[in-house]
Amino acid sequence: MTPAWLGGALAPLLVGDRLDRVRPLLDDAGADALLVTELANVRYLTGFTGSAGTLLVTADEAMLATDGRYRTQAGEQLDASGAGAVVDVVVGAPAAQRDALAGLAARAGARRIGLEADGITWAAQRRWAEVLRSAELVATSGVVEALRLVKDGAELDRMGRAAAIADAALAETLPMLADEPTEAEVALVLDSAMRRLGAEDRAFETIVASGPNAAKPHARPGTRRIAAGDCVVIDFGAIVEGYRSDMTRTFSVGGNPPSILAPVFDAVTTAQAAGVDAVRPGVTTGEVDRVCRDLVTEAGYGNEFEHGTGHGVGLHIHEAPAVGPGTTAILAPGVVVTVEPGVYLAGVGGVRVEDTVVVTEDGCRPLTRFPKEPLLDGARS
Ligand code: ZN
Ligand code: ZN
Repeated sequence: MTPAWLGGALAPLLVGDRLDRVRPLLDDAGADALLVTELANVRYLTGFTGSAGTLLVTADEAMLATDGRYRTQAGEQLDASGAGAVVDVVVGAPAAQRDALAGLAARAGARRIGLEADGITWAAQRRWAEVLRSAELVATSGVVEALRLVKDGAELDRMGRAAAIADAALAETLPMLADEPTEAEVALVLDSAMRRLGAEDRAFETIVASGPNAAKPHARPGTRRIAAGDCVVIDFGAIVEGYRSDMTRTFSVGGNPPSILAPVFDAVTTAQAAGVDAVRPGVTTGEVDRVCRDLVTEAGYGNEFEHGTGHGVGLHIHEAPAVGPGTTAILAPGVVVTVEPGVYLAGVGGVRVEDTVVVTEDGCRPLTRFPKEPLLDGARS
């Protein structure tokens, strides 16, 4: 049976209070205004989803500068987002945009303007130093990202929908594994199913890695045919209104996993479940990583688990907080992270299991829910 399109109303995404929540963070960042060049941050603060736009946030004003392609869209989106009343929109050629932003900076008396150092190029930094001559530019890091860390209900609605679409698309795609498809064919069917079920896109390039390819954590789907006896790692996600999901399942095609991988399945699924159990308010990301990693290490595969346990997810597929050894972010309700231990045996194969979970008041709730049963025997029934 083909699952139905997962449409329907989502809670409205309102961004109207976000500029006022970012302003108090500027002082700590050593700035009195912030030039937002990271597009996901522009979107987060204003609702504008265009592929080009720069936002200047001062103590009392904000201005979004974009080009003519987005004249209509920028106005509509800012009105709809609840931010429209407090953001001036300037549309024009690049030089006119820069002049308008510089005008606001001067008018607002901004003396130290934050530049988002993690994303801006050297060339752009030099250009802005020229344009914003009257102020000092300071490098900032993670200012808007600190707000993005905690998702509100409307954001979680979208991420939950993205995860549900991914779950349904996987259910629809798995039977074809019995037909000896190539990895690329499986990825194409999965991606198409997500689009048909209501995703605006895939969250990242889908990974379908079979047999020895599964030993490469970020293998690209290729021409290898999947056959009985293979383990297949499928890592993928959907996007709904900008918000992403991320899930990995590992399947054993046509019966039990190869005997060398059977204990690996056990170790990874046990560690992943323990990692999810560890996610709750007040716990550090490093602690979640340690819980997973200790179990994998006790099972004898510590050296074969070479990546972090997880990462934040939201408007980006990888965002704060990182969940890895020694990381110190403290989990709080509304934070969304993945838990994805993996063990990779070079030349043989690998197993990774991943869920996207949201921290709740007393634990966490998985957004991705597809069963973790690895056996695909009888997948065609
Ligand atoms: Zn993933
Ligand atoms: Zn991930």
